[in-house]
Amino acid sequence: MPKNSSLPPFNPQRVYIEEGVQDLPFTQEVLSRLKPHETEIIKHSREIRVPAEMSWGKKGLLLARFKPDETLKEFEAMSQSLARSVYSLNVISNCHLECTYCILQSYLENNPIITFYVNREEIIKKLADQLDRIPRGSVVGTGQLADSLALEGLTQWNQHLIPFFAEQDRVFLELKTKSADVEPLLDLKHKGQTVVSWSMSTEKVQEEEEYKTASIPERIEAMTRCQKAGYPVGIHFDPIIHHVGWEKNYRRLVEQIFHAVDAENVAWISIGGLRFPTRQVKAMRDRFPKNRKIFTNLVSTNKRFMYYPDRLRESLYNRLRSYLKPHFPEEKTYLSMEAELSGQADKSAS
Ligand code: SF4
Repeated sequence: MPKNSSLPPFNPQRVYIEEGVQDLPFTQEVLSRLKPHETEIIKHSREIRVPAEMSWGKKGLLLARFKPDETLKEFEAMSQSLARSVYSLNVISNCHLECTYCILQSYLENNPIITFYVNREEIIKKLADQLDRIPRGSVVGTGQLADSLALEGLTQWNQHLIPFFAEQDRVFLELKTKSADVEPLLDLKHKGQTVVSWSMSTEKVQEEEEYKTASIPERIEAMTRCQKAGYPVGIHFDPIIHHVGWEKNYRRLVEQIFHAVDAENVAWISIGGLRFPTRQVKAMRDRFPKNRKIFTNLVSTNKRFMYYPDRLRESLYNRLRSYLKPHFPEEKTYLSMEAELSGQADKSAS
């Protein structure tokens, strides 16, 4: 982890290495950056991909081989919302930060251990083949099953991905994060093909529900640093969380952002209300027994998701749009959850 990190270090208690990847350069790089730890070679990652407690998963690390056949997966609901094709590239799975509402608590319930896919050369080769075949203007994101930057100090994945995307002009890479550790990105050749995006909450929500993440002022500062380095940035007001004083707090958040950030260079803004699968409620209650306010006003009329009722959602969206209007063109703002609620359950984590 870099010094002066905005995030706590990730020091896994136990490292599992899938047989066959021990000698890959990426594996050796990661091991050399870790503090002393117990290591175990396992025959197949399936041995530890079982229903397990999320808190256990967040304290371990698995170095495994990614099947290159599955490199890119289309996120249909996100594609619908953004009106361009969106794909996920999951080079990391799970995250050591602790947002109480994190959707990975249910999406990764059978596979919670933090995993780095270490067959980097193979993944990048396959990616090169696939990028030629997806529509021009598509977005490939690494923030669906992990925070794109939270473990950069260990993986350095973006040191490879950003220059790789800079070599073509058809598809954008989107990094989605709640970290502020952008230093390693600033001198990379990116040619505007990487959008660095932040998930933004009010300071109250960050303090009460997004443990271990960078503070809101730190995220805004990181955004300005990336803009100065020429990166387009993205902003995700997602999830918007209803709380006492939400109108004042979201207004202030928008003002803080646009006081510092150049709106001209913001690629897109998304807005989405808090939601998570109904089956996740138990994990949230067990893991964060004191955080009961998060459930206020949520309903589950479709039985699959907990979400705010239509009128409250509409009010949250309209209010946020009205705060954004003086600063940012409405046509570059999209709703990120409505397609999900209408039946397609994909969602970004970070
Ligand atoms: S919401 Fe994002 S930053 Fe928070 S724990 Fe989940 S993956 Fe990590």
